[in-house]
Amino acid sequence: MIEDKIKTRDELGTLCEHLRASGKKIGFTSGAFDIVHAGHADYLEKAKGICDVLIVGVNSDRSVQSYKGPGRPVVPDAHRVRVVAALESVDYVFLFDERRNRENIGTLRPHYYIKAGDYSHEDLTSRSTAEEYGGEVRLIPVTQSISTTRIIEKIRDGGDETSSRVLDEDGATHITQRPARKAPAVFFDRDGTINEEVLYLHEPEKFRLLPNAAAGIRMFQDMGYRIVIVSNQPGIGMGYFGKEDFYAVNREMLRQLSDVGVLVDKIYFCPHSKSEQCDCRKPGQALIRRAEKDLNIDLTRSVFVGDKTSDMETGRRAGMKIILVNTGFRGEDGEFQGEPDARAEDLLDAASQVLAWERDKAPRV
Ligand SMILES: [Zn+2]
Repeated sequence: MIEDKIKTRDELGTLCEHLRASGKKIGFTSGAFDIVHAGHADYLEKAKGICDVLIVGVNSDRSVQSYKGPGRPVVPDAHRVRVVAALESVDYVFLFDERRNRENIGTLRPHYYIKAGDYSHEDLTSRSTAEEYGGEVRLIPVTQSISTTRIIEKIRDGGDETSSRVLDEDGATHITQRPARKAPAVFFDRDGTINEEVLYLHEPEKFRLLPNAAAGIRMFQDMGYRIVIVSNQPGIGMGYFGKEDFYAVNREMLRQLSDVGVLVDKIYFCPHSKSEQCDCRKPGQALIRRAEKDLNIDLTRSVFVGDKTSDMETGRRAGMKIILVNTGFRGEDGEFQGEPDARAEDLLDAASQVLAWERDKAPRV
């Protein structure tokens, strides 16, 4: 029965003592589970495969609002907890108010603390909490790019958007039909912002995501931003490498990002050297204008995130908010003047700052 699976955290703490005494391996995981989809079902089934008894913590409405932003969750916690309890792989469910799992892990002391395969600050905290009493962190890679955020977008767009996505030759998802709904975007620079700066990067095996980059992009995606990458690739114009090499690096990036559920809407790039004086090289606006049209982007609510002053200048000319990240060139290239709207340690920090701006703008209830 569904009701029998729903407990309070304290009840489960006591139950876990008995389970441990009888030699059962306890697994614990948590999430919002707002609109349960196939990705959740697969993930929980794999989690159950690791342990004898699977306990799932469901974030309360208050805690979901604190990290997903306004408008979420769609489904209230009393309902979400019942749907999760109805899944065969799940043995027990409880609601919790915090954003982090420290309290949950401390009370349940599971043998396995199970997480989707992405890293963030809080994982490290949870890891040390689990290891304090001899528990273990287990990561399950998320193989499918299904997300509640995308499902909500598809419903809002009348079902058009997701079905009209195709893979581009450069490996980026390409929207063949302009989405009906206007949405803000985050424009990211690639090298030095998303991945480690490597001069004239053109070998996929040298592609390294920066710490918190995937988690940060994922957070922007969850907040409803379209994800766009705009990159200057003068190495192509100067003949150091070819477009195919650039595409190969992109494919590696998209593979690593899709492992954590990030779906990039489109990658734009300028293949020209500076001396060619094109209008697509950042801070030129041609690629921004194309993205605005292709993806129905509301530039006034969009953000540009990069590590160079040319990135800041690009966003500034387009009238976006601009965030300088403390990675790659750290804005020390000296090409353009002016202060960014914010400085961020990494992309997760950038996303957190944008969420804070949105909260300030949101009408008080
Ligand atoms: Zn160009």
